[in-house]
Amino acid sequence: RAKLRGRNRSHHFSPDMADALYRKMTLRHHLTLALEADAFELYYQPIVDIKSKSLKGFEALIRWHDEELGQVSPGEFIPLAEETGQIVPLGKWILKTACKQLALWREKYGKAFIMSVNLSRAQLQSSLAPTIEGLLNRYQIPPSQLALELTESTMLQEYDEAKQCLDDLASLGIELYLDDFGTGYSSLSQLQDLPISTVKLDQSFVQGEHKGSQAIIEATQAICEKLALKVVAEGVETEAQLRYLQQCRFDFCQGYYLGRPMPAHEHEDRNFSLLNTIPEAPLQEQKPE
Ligand code: C2E
Ligand code: MG
Ligand code: MG
Ligand code: MG
Repeated sequence: RAKLRGRNRSHHFSPDMADALYRKMTLRHHLTLALEADAFELYYQPIVDIKSKSLKGFEALIRWHDEELGQVSPGEFIPLAEETGQIVPLGKWILKTACKQLALWREKYGKAFIMSVNLSRAQLQSSLAPTIEGLLNRYQIPPSQLALELTESTMLQEYDEAKQCLDDLASLGIELYLDDFGTGYSSLSQLQDLPISTVKLDQSFVQGEHKGSQAIIEATQAICEKLALKVVAEGVETEAQLRYLQQCRFDFCQGYYLGRPMPAHEHEDRNFSLLNTIPEAPLQEQKPE
């Protein structure tokens, strides 16, 4: 009986599902138009070296403003673009735009920022390394100034093929970051098996959303130190969180407290200064909120 009902239910189409499907179809259509119209923009969020109190670099984050739909978040349209395959041309545009911006900043300010760019699984093809090599040459960017961010789930399907692609990328001399660490499905052995230089600890730990957030923050720092990996804490929103991370001897942090994602010209207007001054770590214990 229950089985029957379950089966019936799966055929049942609720108003919520209809709304979701309608939204998806609309987005899909507008995404196609946006690709043709070049309606995307990259914002750049600082990644900060909290020891030397200096800018380590920027993460490029895509923004899409649609005339009809308004601002659509990448959390909504990137998965859709991945489903439709549109992420491949879009990803090329993202890589090119980020490299162009980095080259501009290098020329104008002579600063050695690292630009990190998010990658989707579908972009991990054998043609990616030659494409990146072409961009580095075209924009005269030293490979050590480009980083690519991948999530743990990227590596789930066809691991060997994906690893080959990462090895090719790493041999160009660019850096690979493992994004949203701690929330996906990777095994710790991947940290050693893949040519990853840097781990980005997911923001949910910094924000204390999990039972053992503090233990996980401290353990991640310890593992990364032992494995000689750099580690970036994501989602730092308060001074208390920053102080706690300083105490845990994190080197790199990223979050609204240190700087929001902004268009390139706003960083220039601010002369690349950080939004808040970075405090010295206090002697007494501080806990994340
Ligand atoms: P992500 O790569 O983990 O990027 C970090 C996200 O956290 C960004 O959201 C950023 O704006 C947000 N964030 C940064 N600091 C804070 C903070 O202190 N508090 C909070 N609550 N959030 C913070 P955004 O830009 O909406 O991007 C969401 C996700 O969409 C990204 O997560 C990434 O997975 C994907 N994405 C964004 N841009 C691109 C892109 O160019 N290519 C690809 N493939 N994916 C992208
Ligand atoms: Mg990222
Ligand atoms: Mg992340
Ligand atoms: Mg994320």
